[in-house]
Amino acid sequence: AVPDPLTPTAAIRSIPEGAQILEARDIKVDFSGHQVLNGVSLAVNRGEVIAIIGPSGSGKSTFLRCFNLLQSPSAGHLTIGDTEVFSGSSSNIRSRDLLLLRRKVGMCFQSFNLFPHLTALENVVLAQVRALGRSKRDARTRGMQLLDRVGLSDRADMKPSQLSGGQQQRVAIARALALDPEIMLFDEPTSALDPELGVEVLAVMRELADEGMTMIIVTHEMHFAEDVADRVIFMADGNIVEEGTPKKVIRNPEHARTRKFLSAVI
Ligand code: ADP
Ligand code: MG
Repeated sequence: AVPDPLTPTAAIRSIPEGAQILEARDIKVDFSGHQVLNGVSLAVNRGEVIAIIGPSGSGKSTFLRCFNLLQSPSAGHLTIGDTEVFSGSSSNIRSRDLLLLRRKVGMCFQSFNLFPHLTALENVVLAQVRALGRSKRDARTRGMQLLDRVGLSDRADMKPSQLSGGQQQRVAIARALALDPEIMLFDEPTSALDPELGVEVLAVMRELADEGMTMIIVTHEMHFAEDVADRVIFMADGNIVEEGTPKKVIRNPEHARTRKFLSAVI
């Protein structure tokens, strides 16, 4: 195995199932004076699957991107394991912490963002070599394992343009997993896909959840959220309006705003 120079990594790896692994506290984001997150907090436990739902423009993507500091909050705190990696303002982020976050918190986007000139396998290999310093040979071995895991070992040598959208998204998931993340973020991973292709992506995500991966998923797939999430977060206008079990939030929402949203999407 590759030696890990980042001490907090070991601390994260040893967090037991059910103990807190990630916490965002009082996160605010404004874009040129327009506040799109109004002080949002979420603590996530190891092994938990969280679905974030809500209308378009409510701040779901912005909030998700704060978890790996792809978006710098204008205020708030972010803690991974027992390391506070962000506090108050972005000028406080240490590069070591940023590296830790990007490696330990993997992400998949709505648009798969694969390199078009590389094959599926090369896409999965590249980050391992660059970010982890793995040898090409080890990275290929790991890459093939992961392509197999997402059901694509027979597509390893194909370019993204030769793959369906669902297959491309599964390559993107394999690529994220290749960095051995402890937490996975998904931002509407199926919304660019035809429903039947979305199903194969959701199946891979469901397997990951069953294996105990900690996941935060922004999704419009209410059935998936209901089946797979431990906790559902409903956001509107830059706030968390309601949260709880899927049964509570999706089946018996307390707030009128939640009911209005759900009646439009279910
Ligand atoms: P959601 O994912 O729930 O649809 P977003 O987090 O993408 O919502 O956006 C929340 C709000 O922030 C929207 O009003 C959006 O227009 C605005 N916004 C998002 N990203 C930017 C940006 N880079 N610059 C300016 N405004 C942005
Ligand atoms: Mg979004």
